[in-house]
Formats: sequence, C-alpha cells, structure tokens
Amino acid sequence: MDIQIVLSLLAQMRQFRPREHWTRQQLEAHQADALRSLREYAYAHSPFYQQFHRGLYDAPLQELPVLTKAMMMEHFDDLVTDRAIRLDEVKAHMRNLIGDERYLDRYRASATSGSSGHPGLFLFNRAEWITVLASFARAREWAGIKFNLPSRVKTATVASTAPFHMSSRVNATAHSWWMPEIRLAASEPLETIVERLNAWQPEVLIAYASMMRILADEQLAGRLQIAPRAVMTSSEVLTEETRRRIVQAWGERLFNQYAATEIGSLAAECEHHRGMHLMEDLVIVEVVDQNNRPVSPGVYGDKLLITVLGSRTQPLIRYELSDSVRLSSDRCPSGHPFRLVDGIQGRVEDVLSFPGEAFGVVQVHPLVFSRIMDTLPVSGWQVIQEADGLHVLLSGVRGEFRDEVLAETLRQALSEQGAIVPRIELQRVESIPKRAAGKAPLIKSNLPRTLPLSDALDSE
Ligand SMILES: [Zn+2]
Repeated sequence: MDIQIVLSLLAQMRQFRPREHWTRQQLEAHQADALRSLREYAYAHSPFYQQFHRGLYDAPLQELPVLTKAMMMEHFDDLVTDRAIRLDEVKAHMRNLIGDERYLDRYRASATSGSSGHPGLFLFNRAEWITVLASFARAREWAGIKFNLPSRVKTATVASTAPFHMSSRVNATAHSWWMPEIRLAASEPLETIVERLNAWQPEVLIAYASMMRILADEQLAGRLQIAPRAVMTSSEVLTEETRRRIVQAWGERLFNQYAATEIGSLAAECEHHRGMHLMEDLVIVEVVDQNNRPVSPGVYGDKLLITVLGSRTQPLIRYELSDSVRLSSDRCPSGHPFRLVDGIQGRVEDVLSFPGEAFGVVQVHPLVFSRIMDTLPVSGWQVIQEADGLHVLLSGVRGEFRDEVLAETLRQALSEQGAIVPRIELQRVESIPKRAAGKAPLIKSNLPRTLPLSDALDSE
C-alpha cells in the first residue's frame, strides 16, 4: 500500500467536491482553461498532434478532426508524449500483468476488452491515475458512500477478473486500504457467487447490469440475503425492467455508472436518480451524429467525442466512443452544473442486418428487440443472429408464457421494420453465455460484418 496515493486521492477528492456547486459558467471557464493547457502540452510534446492539428492550433475544439481508436493505435508511439514509450513493449507489459505493476516504472496501463475490434491501450502517469481513482470514488460518493480514510466500506464486485481490465487495475491500486473488497468472477457458478456474497455481506455491491438482474432475482427468491447500502451497475445497458427488479430487491439504492477505460468513471447517478451526471470538469463530452454534428438533448447521438482534460501521457482530444447516449434537458435538484445523460443504448448491443422485403438491407435497432424481450418474466435473455436465423435464449423463466406467442411477436416486429423475417428459434437455457470480459450482450450478431456500423446507421 502506498500511503502517498491515499493522501493524493484524499486531496483530489477535496478539490472535486466544491465543483458540484459551481455554476455552469464556472464549469465552462474551467473547461476552457484546462483545454488550453491540454492542447499546449500536446502540441509541444506529441509529434502526432503536431501533424494532426496542423494549421488548427487556434481553431475551436469543434473544428478539430476526430480521433478514432484505430488512428490512435496506429500512431501510438508518436501520439504519446514520452518518447521512451513503445507500443510493442506496452503490449508485452499488459500480457504479463498480475498486480499493480507500472510500465517504465511510472505508467499504469489498461486495455479495452476489444469487443468492438482491436483493443485500445491507455497509459496513465501517477497524477492521471489518481484522477481515475478519484472519478470512481466520486461516483461512490454520489451514491452516498462517503470517501474518507477511517471509514472502511465492505465492497463486493462481480465482474471480469482479467488483470488488464480497468476495474481490476483500479482494484490493484486501491485494494487493502481503500476498501476491503471481494472480487468474484461473473463466470463463476451462480451458487458460489450467492454463497460468498451471503458470507461477506457487502455494504456496496458492484456488477454489470445483466449480472445484477440475476442477483436481484436471487435476492427476491430468498437465496441471496444481503442488504447493501448502495448497488452499483456499470458497463452495460440498464433496461427499465432490470432497474425495476433491482429496486424491488433492495429498494431505491441503485446507482448506475458509466465507466470507460479511457478515463475511469465518465458519468454517475446522484441520489435524485434523474440520470447520470457527466463528470464535465474532467472531460468535455460531445454527443454527436455520425457526421460529428452535435445532437440536441432528448435525442440519441450516434457516438460520443471525449476530450480528456487531464490527459498528458496520451492526450485524447475529440476521441470517438461508439456509445449512443441521450442527454437530458432536465435539471437535477442537486444543483450540479454537470449535464445529465438519461439513456445509453447499444453499448454492447449490435444493430442486426436483415435482407429487406423491398430491397437492400434493413438495419434493426437493439430497441426493437429489447422493447419486447424486456417485459418477459425471465431473469436473462439474449438474441443471437446466426446464418440460419435468430436464436433467442431465455434463462430463469418464471411464470407462464408461450414460446410461440413470443416468436410471433418478434416476427411481427421484424416485418414492421421491412425485414424478410428469418427463422426464429427459442431456447430455454440454464444461463446466458458471457463474453470473456464477463459481459453478456443482449443482442449480438455472429454473422461476418458486411457493413461498417456507420453505414448501418445511415440507412435507418
Ligand atoms: Zn443529480
């Protein structure tokens, strides 16, 4: 345990708290200052940005080119601001990771799981890492779990235990002092998870939404018997039905969080549950359509562009995240200056393509399926597209419903979308298979991708 990290984190939290009382104007002034410093630093130390933003050094943020993950990875060694960093070495470092090791003795690294293609790698120096830790600590504070040294809060996390994952990396630094914690792999048998949670009696329970829904069902069935003060979900779409069940199991203690490997916690719910507040003092968030034009509150964007204000080792300026989020125009009674996100979709869900009845290809949005599937009396579901049709998996089926009625409802919905309706096969299973990272996508395609997602969204 590094007491210096604890002290820095406490100092960082003290710096964070007053920002919740800023006016929007104060927040925007802070963003403008921080952006200026970030760009000055990038232009002085990153050969990539010197080229990428050539002639645009004084241009407004909205006129700068968008940085994709593929571009970032392709130009990694030139993009970072420390000339000692080598991508191949970082990759080797990641492969051998077991604990809180640092690359070149000073950088902590984390990786995306690569569910959307090649993994992205991200490096953090000490100050940057403190900010990542503080963003998670802040999300917990907004969930009512105050961060201070004397209070030790028993936490249980059911997630991926892959050592390169952001949550494992954070845990490797934080473990032992920040919180006594057990980490359970989402891939373990449910019985074991329930047993260990009962024995541990966590005050904070953290899991992906799909796993939390299963645990809520276990609680409602009386097998799981815990009384956490806060229940935190992240990294997956939290559907209405999943939220309802979790609240039924544990009361209004559910706090959703939106975390990303690039930054840590990007947004989190406060006690008013009006959506998730974007941590806009740490990151400038643009919600845009596929042509990178801003979309209005109340409308889902096609992607997010994030500018991570504290990024110095690996500056991220208008970096593209493929998540589709919706800003809320609501004001939260908390008075935070931070805007609210009240919907995230398609975080891991695929848009499925079908041959169209009239012509060409029809793209069917995840919502078409989730609207139907979410109302079923099941603890889990998944729609998988294979070459021979749609495979619909259902787990933990309670109550009566007829498979044929469900299949017919799905056929109708697809037909309304103009798709040639494929074969639909329903299957009741023990549990929904997860990806290596422990997440269970609700809708996925196992067909070879013929269209880039942007084209897919174009034809909507
Ligand atoms: Zn709020």
